[in-house]
Amino acid sequence: MYGTAPSPSAPPHHRPVRFRLLALPLALSALDACTTHAQRPPAATRDSAADSARRAGARSTAPAAAAASAPAAPARPGARPPVRLCAGGDVTLATNLDTSWAPFFARKYHVRAPALPNPNELLAPLRPLVRDADVLLLNVEGAIGRGRAPSKCGPHSTACFALRMPTAAARALRRVGGRAPVVGNLANNHARDAGPAGFDTTRALLERAGVHVTGADTLATIVATTSGDTLAFLGFSTSGEPDARDLEAVRRHVSRAAAQHARVIVTAHLGAEGVRAQRTRDTVERFHGTDRGNPVAFAHAAADAGADVVIGHGPHVLRAAEWHGDALVLYSLGNLVTYGPFAFAEPIVRSAVACLLLDESGRVEEAELRPTRQRRPGRMAVDRTRRAAALVDSLSRLDFPETGARVSERGKLTRPAADSLPAIAPAPSPR
Ligand SMILES: [Zn+2]
Repeated sequence: MYGTAPSPSAPPHHRPVRFRLLALPLALSALDACTTHAQRPPAATRDSAADSARRAGARSTAPAAAAASAPAAPARPGARPPVRLCAGGDVTLATNLDTSWAPFFARKYHVRAPALPNPNELLAPLRPLVRDADVLLLNVEGAIGRGRAPSKCGPHSTACFALRMPTAAARALRRVGGRAPVVGNLANNHARDAGPAGFDTTRALLERAGVHVTGADTLATIVATTSGDTLAFLGFSTSGEPDARDLEAVRRHVSRAAAQHARVIVTAHLGAEGVRAQRTRDTVERFHGTDRGNPVAFAHAAADAGADVVIGHGPHVLRAAEWHGDALVLYSLGNLVTYGPFAFAEPIVRSAVACLLLDESGRVEEAELRPTRQRRPGRMAVDRTRRAAALVDSLSRLDFPETGARVSERGKLTRPAADSLPAIAPAPSPR
């Protein structure tokens, strides 16, 4: 992986900068705001939830600061309120391993493109979109750290990109969640771009900043919300362990988590990449000659083993959403905030934050997409054209005619059955 040959895991959209950036379409965007969510049970409930997570023997990285800041509120009789999980796709907050793309980009497009911008600045537009989240899940697409690192890419490689964010990225990732715990997935093809030691540093920096790390091993990451609810997260990829291609292992890890926890969230970085990778089929996808897994087989294995939600990323484009039994599968959320040498063209610039309300058993009560776009690399904003909703709706109908989610113009995801009801003729206009 760290040899002189181009990395087989390098995305196709990661073509050499001089070629890749020729077709950059700049687009306008704007920022929106969301309502807040509050209903916090007493501290005693939080403690019992944390205790039960410990008793279950699962690893908990719950940041002390988040638990301590949880406000006490009166308990509500009856059912506990659902938990709102918000999830985004790929997040890269610059790379300090190769900054050569930035001056080229700035010159060509007459825009300000500092090599290493403030990570908080890059994530600021995301904050209002996830303000009502009880838990925020993001794919951390790259290592985090500084100093020397083993070279991942050869001197003449044209399809290899080494991504390592400045150390301030870890705190910025924590901060964007506000009071909500943030889960960072490291199961992807760039978290080890600074070598094995760099991966350990990445994990340590995130955990020190208060970000829960998942995808670094096969144990579920247990996250307690400020209301005392717990969710179990498992991350998989096709770039090592935990391996999304080993379906027996996927079933084993997920069912172990499901036996201990009511809400199990699986996230996965798999599938081919780029503008030609929007479609999802039940087959092994190959990319740069490597096996990038069968996203459908993976998602179904995870859901059958007890996952309530499967959140995909890696293709760098939005993909279909599907209901598999009670589980909701989002095959790819696309590029949320990708500051660096990423391709920049339609539909790669379109993404969405998925926010799901999960009941006590983990069942998805409500699901919505909050469309976003990047008008320049890493400069995300709310997409007022709501393109993501139309894209995911179309792709879901195409790829999963029977089970594909229907997505309303407002981004609400529903089951296909509701859509297949006979159309009702409009009432005649009053005269
Ligand atoms: Zn990736």
